[in-house]
Amino acid sequence: MEFDLIDRIRRHTSVHRDDVVTGIGDDAAVVAVPAGRELAIAVDTLVEGVHFPVGTSASDIGWKALAVNLSDLAAMGATPAWALLALTTPDGDEAFFDGLAQGFAELATPYRLALIGGDTTRGPLTVTVAVHGFAAPGEALLRSGARVGDVVMVTGTLGDAAAGLRCLDEADTTPYAAMIERLNRPVPRVAAGQALRGVATACIDVSDGLVADLGHICTASNVGASIDAALLPRSSALLTHFAEADAQDFALSGGDDYELCFTVPADKAAEVGAVLSRLGCGATRIGRIVEGAGVRVVDAAGETLMPARSGWNHFAA
Ligand code: ADP
Ligand code: MG
Repeated sequence: MEFDLIDRIRRHTSVHRDDVVTGIGDDAAVVAVPAGRELAIAVDTLVEGVHFPVGTSASDIGWKALAVNLSDLAAMGATPAWALLALTTPDGDEAFFDGLAQGFAELATPYRLALIGGDTTRGPLTVTVAVHGFAAPGEALLRSGARVGDVVMVTGTLGDAAAGLRCLDEADTTPYAAMIERLNRPVPRVAAGQALRGVATACIDVSDGLVADLGHICTASNVGASIDAALLPRSSALLTHFAEADAQDFALSGGDDYELCFTVPADKAAEVGAVLSRLGCGATRIGRIVEGAGVRVVDAAGETLMPARSGWNHFAA
């Protein structure tokens, strides 16, 4: 039966690539890394009830498991190529496999990302995806290159996914559909990441929340950051349905947005903003890299905002 389930996944996810010598079906996949390219490799696990709510549809789980990984490749500026899928489910429900594979394929196919193998086991619902992408030597965007004076920018809008999570228990979720969509079907900023190669000095994807993730750039780069809360890009959906204080909290510390937060030399910020606007996500200047350590958030009056959440103190200056 397991082979039938694997076959179901394979049927939904057939992307042909010349660099896949042997895909699903043997003991290991065999691939050919193009000459002159380095591999960027990432793996992320989603556990039911931890990384997605109980009740999330199979196709949304399949999409999100790949999306969070493509977001890691995006943050490196890498071009996606191959993926592995390790699936643990409590029962071998065929409809679940079909749905999961379909959601995975919906995101994989436009990138011509090939699913080249995986593993299928029984147990509490857990989905692990590993992805491989290409970058020219020295081209991958690291967390460690931010310099004092650089501008901090972020793609798209922040806080929607955390707000969507808050809305899931509403009797009628229709008014919150856009935010719930961002929770269940995050769009990895792959094209934006590639456009930032050779321009951004540091980059990270916002998975744990802006303050926490920008904090990682600061640590890796040995610098501090000052963020202007009034500049945080928020969607009209978020601002329509939540009070300013909540919207700000979601944007600063809500997880699961999968936008890119990056730093660029100040004289490149306008040009980068224009390029990313043409790519559809746009990019907003939210602050500056400064001397010191950690992330400081200031309000419009220049006052340092007190952290609203536990865990913040660690990152506050
Ligand atoms: P093995 O016992 O050698 O690990 P498996 O029965 O686990 O073999 O897998 C058989 C083939 O199916 C392998 O090529 C493996 O990569 C692939 N495979 C298994 N599970 C999945 C999955 N969930 N998604 C994609 N490929 C899978
Ligand atoms: Mg196996």
